[in-house]
Amino acid sequence: MILPILIYGNPILRKKCIEIDQSYQNINLLIKNMYDTMYKAKGIGLSAPQIGLSIRLFIIEYNNFYKKKFKKVFINPKIIKNYGYDLISKEGCLSIPNIIENIKRKNNLIIEYYDENWKKYRQHFNGLLSIIIQHEYDHIDGKLFIDHISDMKNILIKNKLKIMFNLNKKNF
Ligand SMILES: [Zn+2]
Repeated sequence: MILPILIYGNPILRKKCIEIDQSYQNINLLIKNMYDTMYKAKGIGLSAPQIGLSIRLFIIEYNNFYKKKFKKVFINPKIIKNYGYDLISKEGCLSIPNIIENIKRKNNLIIEYYDENWKKYRQHFNGLLSIIIQHEYDHIDGKLFIDHISDMKNILIKNKLKIMFNLNKKNF
């Protein structure tokens, strides 16, 4: 089932999400619906708050031309370490249509998380995968990629978004 994706300005996108446990109902259906939604929107990642659920869960599917497909569900993830040199890459977000910006993030990431079978992992990622994971992780903390942009440019982008989405509030 394709779910509606929340767009910038919706307060749910700014909430810190809560952890879930194994008693969470219908998690496999939720994950399937999130993948359907992400494929339809042609995204490479989608977090639960983007479909209106304030829980610490996100999905990723990224196809690299050289390596095989990376498809993973991250539940209750915790960033252990974020380090190394700065990588600048162009980021966009399904919740912020038509905005693509250069964003600076650290190259390396060590993260702990559970998959959909509640198997626990502690893994190291670098390069683009690390960037994608950091972007999705931000979502479950109520952060958006535009928060990483310098103040002046951030104000310009937020003003543009306010006009695009006809928003009245001062801060998001
Ligand atoms: Zn996003």
